[in-house]
Amino acid sequence: MKGARERWVRTGGVELCVAELGDPERPTVVLVHGYPDSKEVWSEVAVRLAGRFHVVLYDVRGHGRSTAPRPLRGGFTLAKLTDDFLAVVDAVSPDRPVHLVGHDWGSVQSWEFVTVGRTEGRIASFTSISGPSLDHFGHWIDARLKRPTPRRAGQLLGQGAKSWYVYLLHTPVLPELAWRGPLGKRWPKILERAERVPGGDYPTGSLPSDAAHGAWLYRDNVRARLRRPRPDAYAHAPVQLITPRQDAFLSERLYDDLDRWVPRLTRRTLPVKHWVPRTRPDQVAAWIDQFVTSVDGGRPAPAATGRHADRFAGQLVLVTGAGSGIGRATAIAFAEAGARIVAVDRDAEAAARTAELARLAGAAGAWAEPADVSDEQAMEVLAEKVHHQYGVLDVLVNNAGIGLAGSFLTTTTDDWRKVLDVNLWGVIHGCRLFGARMAERGQGGHIVTIASAAAYQPSRALPAYSTSKAAVLMLSECLRAELAPRGIGVTAVCPGFVNTGITATARFTGVDEAEELRRRRRSARLYGLRNYPPEKVATAVLDAVAADRAVVPVTPEAKAARLLSRFAPRLSRRIARVEPRL
Ligand code: NAD
Repeated sequence: MKGARERWVRTGGVELCVAELGDPERPTVVLVHGYPDSKEVWSEVAVRLAGRFHVVLYDVRGHGRSTAPRPLRGGFTLAKLTDDFLAVVDAVSPDRPVHLVGHDWGSVQSWEFVTVGRTEGRIASFTSISGPSLDHFGHWIDARLKRPTPRRAGQLLGQGAKSWYVYLLHTPVLPELAWRGPLGKRWPKILERAERVPGGDYPTGSLPSDAAHGAWLYRDNVRARLRRPRPDAYAHAPVQLITPRQDAFLSERLYDDLDRWVPRLTRRTLPVKHWVPRTRPDQVAAWIDQFVTSVDGGRPAPAATGRHADRFAGQLVLVTGAGSGIGRATAIAFAEAGARIVAVDRDAEAAARTAELARLAGAAGAWAEPADVSDEQAMEVLAEKVHHQYGVLDVLVNNAGIGLAGSFLTTTTDDWRKVLDVNLWGVIHGCRLFGARMAERGQGGHIVTIASAAAYQPSRALPAYSTSKAAVLMLSECLRAELAPRGIGVTAVCPGFVNTGITATARFTGVDEAEELRRRRRSARLYGLRNYPPEKVATAVLDAVAADRAVVPVTPEAKAARLLSRFAPRLSRRIARVEPRL
């Protein structure tokens, strides 16, 4: 690993290869790898943490450059792995407790470290990724066997099916032959295809022997522990649990009962598969940093408690048109979830106010950036500044939009230009400039566009506005198809009538100024009577991102219009002919 200092630690008949990065005076973070891996699985996360922490990685016995115990059978028990961990900690941080992070089997063994008495006082915090405690797992199974409701039986069967490889690893010799033969050769390609792990210098050449030796991790521990789980496996340090929601090997339900074992638990989720240290190093490093810093500062509980705080805490979210209505409500909802907010609006004061409200709501940071989304150059400058100062976005919400009502024949080319410039070009600029960087980073993300029910419900009264929104809807669908292989979701949110300031600024064509003003007032009154709050649209936005939905109609009329357009298009066309009386 580039820039790492290496040393050897002798313990229990093996020699462990230990690598260190960063200043040893800083808090120590120990990263423990899983199966079939070596410490290199952490290389991307380690370099990101090294600027702020003393980062320590070691090859688990029998893996990477550490030597293997002889005989192998009985050489990988959790008790021996705990001895190894303590020997490493004695060597790298003799006077201060360390912050422990484990992935896969690194997490399984770390659960042992953090729940046995002899490590008490040596561990300041534990971040667990994709690897449960075997004791907790044993109790989880017991509870479901003793009271098998249909739901719990389903959970048991679900996890049972995901554990197919564990049964295989218990067969003698076969796993060793497979790993030292064809499986070992194909593994990097399998990881790339099935797990979207980027290729390169990982996995390392030691993979076949790591995997062959590592089979003993399972054989020496799994059956014995699941049969007789320890009754007192309580964590003696705060725990942060990062759960990849698309893990092919572990069900999310495994962690349902975890609060029973962990007095101070912080939950985080990611919409990805198992190998998060390789596929999402930025997010994993950021959450470790945040957690370690909060524990060291004496604040182990996360500040954010809003909807989906587990998913969005610390993420960078940019909302356009954030100065009012749906945009402001969305920025605040993400802030309540602990995200970092960039509030963009052409109205600088309104954007600043939103940033202030976002900070009060619990944002991990909030900044106002005045910009006109229809101005390509201004958007380029904005993107440059955001990427430079705050980083690559995790979520982009293209919300800025303006209203325009009036028949086609009374709509001037100038009217068309204005509405398309903001409602469509604004979205195009946002997706191009911020989406490109998201794709380039290769660590996923999400783009939301605020379209409208007008995108699929035609109306003689809104030809230009509806056209702009239909274009946004189609753009979202196309982009969703293009960006899916890069792990970037795209969602079109389609509200109906929402009580915001949009009516006060909407343009009405074909009438004089006095009549336009009257129509604005009247439509504002009607929207007020309908009284659907923008906060509910914001909730729908967060839910949609969390669930990666493609098209989300919000408000009953938007849902009805969507159904009509699909199943009763004739009726939808009849409604289009109705002239609203304003
Ligand atoms: P709003 O007028 O309350 O807020 C829009 C915000 O966008 C304002 O702060 C405004 O300053 C900003 N903005 C306008 N043009 C901009 C530009 N060129 N650059 C940067 N900022 C700009 O409106 P809202 O109802 O919250 O609308 C938000 C989005 O929701 C729009 O895209 C709108 O079309 C869509 N929408 C609204 C409704 C509704 O009933 N309110 C229904 C469906 C869709």
